[in-house]
Amino acid sequence: MKYYDKLIFELSKPGRCGYTLPENEYGIHLKELPAELKRSKAPELPEVSEVDVVRHYTNLSQMNFGVDTGFYPLGSCTMKYNPKINEEVAAMPGFTGLHPLQPEKTVQGVKAVYEAMDKALAEITGLSHFTFLPCAGAHGELTGLMLIRQYHMARGDEKRTKIIVPDSAHGTNPASAAVCGLEIVEVKSKANGLVDVEDLKPLLGDDIAGIMMTNPNTLGLFEREIGEIAKLVHACGGLLYYDGANMNPMLGMVRPGDMGFDVMHINLHKTFSTPHGGGGPGAGPVGVAEHLVKFLPETVVSGFHGNFGVILRAYAYILMLGRQNLKYAGMFSVLSANYIKESLKDCYKLPIQSVCKHEFVFDGLVNDGSKEGVEGATTLDVAKRLLDFGYHAPTIYFPLLFHQALMIEPTETESKETIDGFIEVMRKIAAEAAEDPSFLKSAPHCAPITRPDETTAARQPILRYHKEI
Ligand SMILES: *Cc1c(COP(=O)(O)O)cnc(C)c1O
Repeated sequence: MKYYDKLIFELSKPGRCGYTLPENEYGIHLKELPAELKRSKAPELPEVSEVDVVRHYTNLSQMNFGVDTGFYPLGSCTMKYNPKINEEVAAMPGFTGLHPLQPEKTVQGVKAVYEAMDKALAEITGLSHFTFLPCAGAHGELTGLMLIRQYHMARGDEKRTKIIVPDSAHGTNPASAAVCGLEIVEVKSKANGLVDVEDLKPLLGDDIAGIMMTNPNTLGLFEREIGEIAKLVHACGGLLYYDGANMNPMLGMVRPGDMGFDVMHINLHKTFSTPHGGGGPGAGPVGVAEHLVKFLPETVVSGFHGNFGVILRAYAYILMLGRQNLKYAGMFSVLSANYIKESLKDCYKLPIQSVCKHEFVFDGLVNDGSKEGVEGATTLDVAKRLLDFGYHAPTIYFPLLFHQALMIEPTETESKETIDGFIEVMRKIAAEAAEDPSFLKSAPHCAPITRPDETTAARQPILRYHKEI
């Protein structure tokens, strides 16, 4: 056992400490605390030296994987490089020292940031105005769907309680719709991964509030029939909701507003860079077309004015790229994904051959090493083995359309050398699988932990030390 495998409580030695306070030299004595406020027992804190504490936390930080430690090709999550200048801007004392209840005349700079972001996002998306209240993509979805409901209710059109969601949709789409009290109607994808317009047609009617779409969809494919879909949905009285969580490939190329979408959210923390592992922080501003501006919420969906730090980072990112360079973010994210796809498709099954956008999906290994009586290596095994080489795993077993889905999103911010390194390792893993799948089945071999029971780890995580255990 390495010494830093120990919990800080296990490093504790009675009487050891990091600092001692000097004797009270001034003869000033504070009043004794009243007895009822005093502890009856000393707190059970670990007794360790300063260097123990520093090493403990530094070592803990290295047991984790982050975008600052390695390549993180997690599909549908856009884990990209976050320029440090964004952090500096967000940490400026003029911003961090603000109080949300300050008089308006003292926060004109902040208002200018919101207005500039509203303008920038309107230009990027082709919509009219945005609310910056929602603090995540899913939060934006809920806000946008509530807004759609409100639009129908305001016209006295109360029976529109159904929302159409493609079978390839991100899991938050049906979840947000359910939270909003909408009934979910699934529309199927065709074999080429695109929404099946023939399957959509019979679903449309006067009970449809709208459709939620991701474009490019979660398979990384551009929905080429979006014009036709928009026409059909609008003709039945429904609205189009755009899940713009990962807008990278579209930047400067295509705009949701021009495709016919009425409402959208955009994940600033994915598309415009903000460190967002582990569930936060985020910002999911919701934009609407002109005819829906009056339904934008002023308040209620979140406290005060949303997640300003994330909005600032996104603003810094947009300004840094500028109008002329924003489109390269889109182009490079698409180029990187296609380069990986083409470089690996002889070792990994590629169910959809067409050009992808910012991400794509493999469906397991071409040769998984299975033989008579020997089970082959799965997508989970590949993902676990990648950790040994210092790469975060891609998204696995999503979307649900494929049994061995391995969804890769390199983003626009990785160099060719980094991407080539990843391709080489993916090829090596494929060769290992073909030779002896059992080696992959026991991976990772070099990570701090091997394979936890992921359901228990997610549902009943043990986040606190219990001394008795
Ligand atoms: C990440 C993502 C979401 C959800 O965003 P959160 O900020 O995690 O709530 C929704 N849709 C798609 C396509 C996504 O990739």
